[in-house]
Amino acid sequence: MESAAFPLRRDIPALQSDTEFDVLVIGGGIYGAWAAYDAASRGLRTALVEAEDWGAGTSSASSKLIHGGLRYLENFEFGLVRHALTERRVLARLAPHMVRPINFVLPVWRGARVGMGRLRAGLVLYDTLAWGRQPVQRHKRFNRDRLL
Ligand SMILES: Cc1cc2nc3c(=O)[nH]c(=O)nc-3n(C[C@H](O)[C@H](O)[C@H](O)COP(=O)(O)OP(=O)(O)OC[C@H]3O[C@@H](n4cnc5c(N)ncnc54)[C@H](O)[C@@H]3O)c2cc1C
Repeated sequence: MESAAFPLRRDIPALQSDTEFDVLVIGGGIYGAWAAYDAASRGLRTALVEAEDWGAGTSSASSKLIHGGLRYLENFEFGLVRHALTERRVLARLAPHMVRPINFVLPVWRGARVGMGRLRAGLVLYDTLAWGRQPVQRHKRFNRDRLL
């Protein structure tokens, strides 16, 4: 397939010949695809090999959320959450045609693994770590009647 920016070719003979590449990426999941794109856009002669097909692995199972890593708070990985939240903001700014906010309702019932107190503490911390201009609203709490 040819792209206007730089040529992308499915070229097995080139891989089997003596052609020299600057970069060989193994795996065409999101990370491999991005690494190859980044290398090629810097002018490096780049090859990518994929055992199955583009996105055949974990990348096809992703829910495609540009999330801020809420679940990592459970492991006290605050730096990682902060980093993910910054990345969320950057992606929303760079690609507003692809990244849009989605609202979720997280029901919490009696006896849930993460109870209301812990969830609220986590979400307040999450909103705090997301300081600065964010593409999404801060969390809100609804009691059962208000939500219904
Ligand atoms: C259910 C689920 C939901 C998720 N939801 C989200 C989400 O909402 N947001 C988010 O940011 N992340 C999410 N993730 C995480 C995200 O999907 C992964 O972090 C990401 O897809 C990993 O990409 P990858 O390129 O490292 O791996 P992969 O997508 O697995 O790519 C690896 C590729 O390498 C190929 N390969 C392996 N060995 C070889 C070899 N020897 N030679 C050639 N090719 C090889 C495989 O065929 C595969 O295509 C989710 C993950 C899961 C499972």
